[in-house]
Amino acid sequence: MANPRIVIVGAGFGGLFATKALAKAPADILLIDRQNYHLFQPLLYQVATAGLAPSDVAWPIRSIVTRQHNAAVLLGEVVGVDRAEKLVVLENESIHYDYLVIATGAQHAYFGHDEWRSVAPGLKSIDDATYLRRKLLLAFERAENCNDLDERRRLLQFVIVGAGPTGVELAGAIAELAHHTLVKDFRRIDPRSARVVLIEAGPRVLPGFSEPMSRYAKESLQKLCVEVRVNSPVTQCDAGGVTIGEAQREERLSAGTVLWAAGVAASAAGTWLNEATDRQGRIDVMPDLSIDGDSNLFVIGDTAHIVDSRGVTVPGTAPAAKQQGRYVARVIKSRLNRRRSPAPFRYRSIGNLATIGRRSAVVEFGAIKLKGRLAWWLWGIAHIYFLIGIPSPLIVSIRWLWEYVTYGKGARLITGDSNDAS
Ligand SMILES: Cc1cc2nc3c(=O)[nH]c(=O)nc-3n(C[C@H](O)[C@H](O)[C@H](O)COP(=O)(O)OP(=O)(O)OC[C@H]3O[C@@H](n4cnc5c(N)ncnc54)[C@H](O)[C@@H]3O)c2cc1C
Repeated sequence: MANPRIVIVGAGFGGLFATKALAKAPADILLIDRQNYHLFQPLLYQVATAGLAPSDVAWPIRSIVTRQHNAAVLLGEVVGVDRAEKLVVLENESIHYDYLVIATGAQHAYFGHDEWRSVAPGLKSIDDATYLRRKLLLAFERAENCNDLDERRRLLQFVIVGAGPTGVELAGAIAELAHHTLVKDFRRIDPRSARVVLIEAGPRVLPGFSEPMSRYAKESLQKLCVEVRVNSPVTQCDAGGVTIGEAQREERLSAGTVLWAAGVAASAAGTWLNEATDRQGRIDVMPDLSIDGDSNLFVIGDTAHIVDSRGVTVPGTAPAAKQQGRYVARVIKSRLNRRRSPAPFRYRSIGNLATIGRRSAVVEFGAIKLKGRLAWWLWGIAHIYFLIGIPSPLIVSIRWLWEYVTYGKGARLITGDSNDAS
C-alpha cells in the first residue's frame, strides 16, 4: 500500500518545521510554496536597508530538505482547497492529500485603503525588501543629482507608518544608513540631512512591550535622529507623502519615500476553506490545531487564531509558528502510528524582542526586562538560536553579525528597474 500523503502548504516557519519534524514519519510529504526559498523574516528589514544581502536571510527550500527522503518540494501557488475530494488546488493541477497542513502566513493590511499599497510598500518578501532597498538608495542618488532644494529635501524625507517592531527596526536602520553608512559617499548632499519620521496611530511605540520599554525605545530612536509621532493616525497616503492626525488637526508630511509597517492580515486560507475568520482573517482552530469537523486538516502559524490550553492567545511570531509546526507533526505521527494523541497545544513564550539600531534593543522575558547594549547582544544571540534549522546556521550567523557590527557595505546595490521605485 502507498504511504499516506501529507501536503504542507507554505515553507515558512510553521510549514518548514512541520516538514522537518515529520522526517521519520511513514508518509510521503509534499511541501508546496509559491517561492523557492524559506525566508527568515525577522532580518528582512536589514535587506531593505542595505545591511544584509538577500542570500543572508533566505535559503532554497529544496536544499533545506534535500536529505529528507520522505519529503518532496513543489513550487506553485495554491488557490483553493476542495475539502470534499481532499484536493489542494493549484493553478494548473490539483493534488490529493490524506493530511493537509496550511501554513501560508500573513500579508500586509492597509485597513481598507488598498490604494495606498502602491505608494506605501510593506515588507514581507525578498522582492519587497529589494524594492524598498532600491527606493531608499535611489532617494539619496536622486537627491545628489537634484538642483531644486525643495525637491531635494522631499527626496530625503522618509516616513514609516506603524511603530511595532518592524517599523521601529526600519526607522532605526534608515537613520543609521543616513548618519553612518552613507555619510562619506556623497559630495553634493549631506546624507545626515535626511529626515526619518516614524508614525504611530496609538499612544506609544512598541505597544506590545511594557510602558518603560516603549519609552526607552522612543528615546533611543530620538537619539538616532528619528522623529517619533504618536497618536497620529494616517488619513491619507499618496506619492507626495502622508496626512496624519484627526480632522481639524490634520498635518501634511511631505515625503519622497513612505514605508508601510502598520498591519498584517492572514493569508486567504479562510476563503479556500470556507471557514469563519477573525478580524485579521485568521481561522479558529481546535486545541490540536485541526479544523472543527475535519480532523486531518490543520492550520498553523500566522493564518491560525489559537487560544491555547491555558487560555493564552498565541502571537503571530516565528517561535510560535515553529512550535505549532512541530506540534502538528506530533499529532500526525501519533495518528499514523495509531498512538494516543499528544495533549492539546501549549505555547511556550520566549519573550518579546526588538532592536533599535545596531547598539540598542529591548527584551522582555516575563519579569526580566533588559534594554540597551546587553539587550542588543541577547537579541543577536536569540536570532542565532532562531537560525537553527536552516543550512549552516553558524556560518550564516557569523556573517550577518560581522556585516551588522561593521556596517557592511556590500549590500548597497540598486538592482532592478530604477523607474519603478520613483
Ligand atoms: C518584516 C517582518 C519582521 C518580523 N520580525 C519578527 C521577529 O523579529 N520575531 C518574530 O518572532 N517574528 C517576526 N515576524 C513574524 C514572523 O516572521 C511570522 O510570525 C512567521 O513567519 C509566521 O510563520 P508562518 O509559517 O505562519 O508564515 P510565513 O513564515 O510567512 O510563511 C508562509 C509561507 O507560505 C507561502 N505561501 C503563502 N501563500 C501561499 C500560497 N497561496 N501558495 C503557496 N505558498 C504560499 C509563502 O511564500 C511563505 O513561504 C516578522 C514578520 C515580518 C514580515
